[in-house]
Amino acid sequence: MTREEQQMSDLRALYQEVILDHSKAPRNFGKLAEGRHAEGFNPLCGDRLTLYLNVDGDVVADARFEGSGCAISTASASMMTEMVKGKTIADAEKIFEAFHDLVTGEANEGSDEELLGKLAVFAGVQEYPTRVKCATLAWHTLKAACHESDAPVSTE
Ligand code: ZN
Repeated sequence: MTREEQQMSDLRALYQEVILDHSKAPRNFGKLAEGRHAEGFNPLCGDRLTLYLNVDGDVVADARFEGSGCAISTASASMMTEMVKGKTIADAEKIFEAFHDLVTGEANEGSDEELLGKLAVFAGVQEYPTRVKCATLAWHTLKAACHESDAPVSTE
């Protein structure tokens, strides 16, 4: 293994650790008594989640989620709720765009990777196309909640 390959593999291990940590101990897990909610379902993997959102003006004041799914979908929802709290809906949507580009491997010079922060740990998902829907489910559901759409979100 070259030094570069070693670094890549260390990085992967580190990324996996962050994802595992969030999937085992999801942050912001639970309901919100008030506010909006939206449901998401990824039939490909069986991931389900309900996202609760408290929006103050155009700022996400609080975000929580409940549901069951694979490690990637749970970790993604956990990190997403941490990420969007305190952000405007417009900023949250920008982060979603950057995140989508990252996990689909479509990030280019126009992609705003700085927005992603810790979410960069999901870069490895692009090697597993069937996992892209697991990683983006929470974000699609967030979008529905932001727009107060009552229709359940399905990734199919
Ligand atoms: Zn999944």
